Amino acid sequence: TDYVQNGSSILEILIDGEKFNIKLTLNKVYKPLTEKVKEELAKLKVFFMFMGDTKSPNKKQQFRSEIILHPEWNCIYDVGHIYWTGSLQDGRDRGKFHYFCPIGWKRYAFYVTDNFDEKFKGWSIGYHGTKFAYGLSILLSGLAPGIKAVLGEGISISQSIIYASHPRYAEVKRIESKDERNFFLNGKYVQFVLQCRVLSKNIKEVGPESLGARGIAIDPNLSNDVMECVVDTQDKGIMDFNDPDSTIVCTGLMIRVTDNHPGLLPESQWWYSSHICNHKECCCVGIDLSELMKQRINGVKCNFIYE
Ligand SMILES: [Zn+2]
Ligand SMILES: [Zn+2]
Repeated sequence: TDYVQNGSSILEILIDGEKFNIKLTLNKVYKPLTEKVKEELAKLKVFFMFMGDTKSPNKKQQFRSEIILHPEWNCIYDVGHIYWTGSLQDGRDRGKFHYFCPIGWKRYAFYVTDNFDEKFKGWSIGYHGTKFAYGLSILLSGLAPGIKAVLGEGISISQSIIYASHPRYAEVKRIESKDERNFFLNGKYVQFVLQCRVLSKNIKEVGPESLGARGIAIDPNLSNDVMECVVDTQDKGIMDFNDPDSTIVCTGLMIRVTDNHPGLLPESQWWYSSHICNHKECCCVGIDLSELMKQRINGVKCNFIYE
């Protein structure tokens, strides 16, 4: 294990084959450092190493060399942890979108600003699912606007974590080695999505799902007609999460660890009546699809794993 001194730890990673040292730092409020807080930092570091070699989806990106964490706001969402039903009613102004409990996920919170409540008044929470190889490069340099034929140019996010965690967006990765298994408490599969915040007026367009679910409900809290949305990037190349003028900010990393394939979860059953495939350039399922289908027919159950 890794000794976290002075509230920071160095992570060595490869981005497009080039070596980078990234400093993972705890927000300055942590004095003295408790064992719990050091442990949370060490855990996220292991997760970043597990992400593997990083690819930058865009050339000539600038990478930040530090990620500041805010473990005080790390939490698990489920019954017995942090849990609510329906739209969260806590008096906060979350703009255009409602905030539903992301059951089964743990959030690792990032430090963004000292005046969090003030800065994010009227900002909505949305999720961006991606592949493991892109995760760190997005965290270190921001999201680049993509071209979407239907909704126009911008960054796509979803207000539904159930939609964002489809393997077309959020890769499913199998936990292979014994060391990794240890860290993930014998979990077998892991997924992550970025938790973002967007100012409502920058949500350009809200539109339907594009995975062919049609009449099959994806998220019990939301209509299929509002699954995707595009964030206006105001003609900037890349949305740097550290830029105070960014129209989208990443405030946390949502991680889901399961004892079996997440495609066996009740909330994933819509995959099979919309789209799922084994082509790596499309869906990153992390298992042979015929094996997954077999387990599904045999009624294999999938459970969330928390610490
Ligand atoms: Zn395919
Ligand atoms: Zn596919």
